[in-house]
Amino acid sequence: MNNQKPTLQGRLIQHYRIESLLGEGGMGTVYQATDTLLQRLVAVKMLHPHLVSQTSFMERFRNEALILARLNHPNIAVVYNFLQDNADYFMAMEYVEGDSLEALIRKAGALSPAIAAEVVRQGLEGMAHAHRKGILHRDIKPANLMLTPEGTIKLMDFGIARVSGEQRLTQANRLVGTLEYMAPELIEGQEPSPASDLYAMGVLLYELLSGKLPFASRTDYELMQAIVREKPIPLRKLDGQIPKELEAVVQKVLDKNPAKRFADAKAFQKALQPFYASAPVLDPAHIMPPLPVTDVVDMQPNRKLAGAKKSESHFSGRFLVQHTPDWFRTNWEFLLAGTLTLVAVLFLGMLLLDRNPLPNPTTKIGGGKKPSVQIKPVVSSVTSPTLVYADSRENRVTVPEPTPDPVENKPKTSLPKKPGAIKPKTVPPKSVEETPVTPPKAEPVAPTTTEPMPEPVKRPVTRKSVAIRRLPVKLALSNDLSSSRAQEGETVRFRVIDAVVSEGEVVILAGATAFGEVTRIRQAGNDLFRKKDLLEFRIYAVEATNGQRLALRSATISEEVKGKPVVFPAGQTFEVRTGDTVLTF
Ligand code: ADP
Ligand code: MG
Repeated sequence: MNNQKPTLQGRLIQHYRIESLLGEGGMGTVYQATDTLLQRLVAVKMLHPHLVSQTSFMERFRNEALILARLNHPNIAVVYNFLQDNADYFMAMEYVEGDSLEALIRKAGALSPAIAAEVVRQGLEGMAHAHRKGILHRDIKPANLMLTPEGTIKLMDFGIARVSGEQRLTQANRLVGTLEYMAPELIEGQEPSPASDLYAMGVLLYELLSGKLPFASRTDYELMQAIVREKPIPLRKLDGQIPKELEAVVQKVLDKNPAKRFADAKAFQKALQPFYASAPVLDPAHIMPPLPVTDVVDMQPNRKLAGAKKSESHFSGRFLVQHTPDWFRTNWEFLLAGTLTLVAVLFLGMLLLDRNPLPNPTTKIGGGKKPSVQIKPVVSSVTSPTLVYADSRENRVTVPEPTPDPVENKPKTSLPKKPGAIKPKTVPPKSVEETPVTPPKAEPVAPTTTEPMPEPVKRPVTRKSVAIRRLPVKLALSNDLSSSRAQEGETVRFRVIDAVVSEGEVVILAGATAFGEVTRIRQAGNDLFRKKDLLEFRIYAVEATNGQRLALRSATISEEVKGKPVVFPAGQTFEVRTGDTVLTF
């Protein structure tokens, strides 16, 4: 197995010369490479070496190549070749220049309805082609669509795609995909379908229009509940200028009932026609607005991202400085003098008022003393540069204020809360792989507290800390484990038998998943010297109620059997203990 990732550059894999790193995903590392025979650029995806030994990933990787080989469409990145080089597996694909939609949303915030509709129209073209060939994508999300400099949208990453009706790659009852884009029926255990792909494309459209996801939730568990039960946050609440008819299209495609969504990708596309009809050619340079900009001023130095490129500035508290008309340039001294006088008068007035401080404590927080409070109005009306929001749609959006919090309630002293000033999301969606349907999987999700998300979910504001001290946890093995089939490094899943309670709080739900890994395998086979088969695994983590993974005191279980494979049957129970920690709920 090779672990020479840093030196892969320059390596020749058959006739492909690796040039540079393009990106990394859950399954592989993608490089730009040159096809030395055809003298053209290609992308080469290499399956992560540590996954080569795991049959499920190997199969998935090969599956992606086979699926892609059946597809041929301008809105899908096509595959050229599948290669093996010693212990490494590669896939040579069409090289797609440009940015993923995830990067685009991060940079541009929300897009205009026409542009968002055009992006989705193209995505649906690719999807319709795949569906016609009987292929479901199953992982539609912004990271898996790219926009080329020519304005073409390319559907990528068919890693978990499936041919309808064919044998699943993953075991039954497992969720595969990315939770945020997962249709409610999938969470409830139904089979993926064209309608679930459409739903994911609907979430993507929602995100392009608003820069936000349709459900605000902090944990995977809450998110699953919201997807299954709740209505998406109305788009027009986020941006009152999104046309009603477009919101209706989004609502239809996000319907909980797959039968009520559009009949197919083409029908969804048709419904978008009034909106993309007026869309210009997708020009990435236009979408990520290079406004007439001369400089970027960071109004919140403490938020500045070290080393962040100017063009990549998030809109969190950043303003772009725009050229002002000549008239201002020549007369700014007069304006400055006039406004300074005005400010002085106002300031005197405030001083007088300040002698009788208002009883409301919130008015004292920040006290108008932070320069950032005054900077915007004063600077924008007086000095030579005019401050404008980078997001030209700023005025179109009304974000409902977050639940009032007496300490945080300082709207007059903090920077304006414009949606453009809000990072679309702080946690990129993670792929959920082979997750048991019940109970919902709960991987740790960093709370998106920095963002005043409108919250339809009634969630208690209070947080409680619960100490966990070596609590016993009873587990049952989820699936048979056999030394004849298991692979070293393979994940082993267990189900919690009884809920675990600490300080009166359920900290682990009955049915929650626990995780282990196969640590050693020996298949004796015909080997006369090692007659015993061996299977060893350890159990190391369990999902807690708050969505975090709780470390377990590592338990290693090992068994040797002579003459036949070691088998731990599904349902076999084990008792382990948690470590010592504190969980916050
Ligand atoms: P994984 O299957 O491991 O998730 P992806 O297919 O999502 O991998 O690729 C990971 C990243 O590599 C993508 O986000 C993208 O930036 C880049 N990438 C993938 N395929 C191509 C391609 N054909 N051309 C250019 N960049 C690509
Ligand atoms: Mg990916």
